[in-house]
Amino acid sequence: MKSVKEKQATAFDIMKEEFGYKAKLAAPRLVKVVVWESANLGAAFLKVNEIFYSVQGEGKNSGIPMVFVRLAGCNLRCDFCDTKYAFEAGKEMMVGEILSERGKYPSKWVCITGGEPFIQPLDELARQLKADGSLIQIETNGTIFQPVTCDWLVVSPKKERRPVESMLERANEIKIVVNLKEALDFTEEYEAWGTCHSIQPENNHEEATKLCLDFVAEHPQWRLSMQLHKLINIR
Ligand code: SF4
Repeated sequence: MKSVKEKQATAFDIMKEEFGYKAKLAAPRLVKVVVWESANLGAAFLKVNEIFYSVQGEGKNSGIPMVFVRLAGCNLRCDFCDTKYAFEAGKEMMVGEILSERGKYPSKWVCITGGEPFIQPLDELARQLKADGSLIQIETNGTIFQPVTCDWLVVSPKKERRPVESMLERANEIKIVVNLKEALDFTEEYEAWGTCHSIQPENNHEEATKLCLDFVAEHPQWRLSMQLHKLINIR
């Protein structure tokens, strides 16, 4: 019988071989199987694109200093994605290494983002961050479910693949990025989920900002989210 360490190595090899961390749309069933299997093994290492300290620039928690743990890989390929550099690049880090990097910074909040963080097993990272007293925000497209506990879950629905209901049920915030007028067409269906609803112009573009401003004026249950970090030119 294989040891837990051997099983972890096997699951990790499967992820590398099957997806090369690209987790393509063509293989959604395999993504779920591998994520489920790895989550059950409590995988202790993750592929990390970058870890840095900055101010949350989006949504309800905008302005709060956070340590950002950007995980590598995403199962979608949105045209307007501003973190394409995280699709593949990254290094394998043990959860302990991530925690020690996080420990260099004084903020209470840690934001786990991507890419799409839920293509990798997050339970061990979240468990250890909580044990260490951190508050956790996770940013996700909501298409992959994992029963990970966090303090603020932001689900950002994308047109090319809608979030699964189990993630919407857990969402604290729904954040919709607007690049075209059509992006506003499906806002209403998300109003039943979460306690906060943010609408965010893609890359702070002028035309998209006008669309969002007009939208929140008519739909005051939604709030405008500008990308603060881009406005003040920080990471
Ligand atoms: S889901 Fe997010 S990270 Fe993935 S491609 Fe779309 S915008 Fe980029």
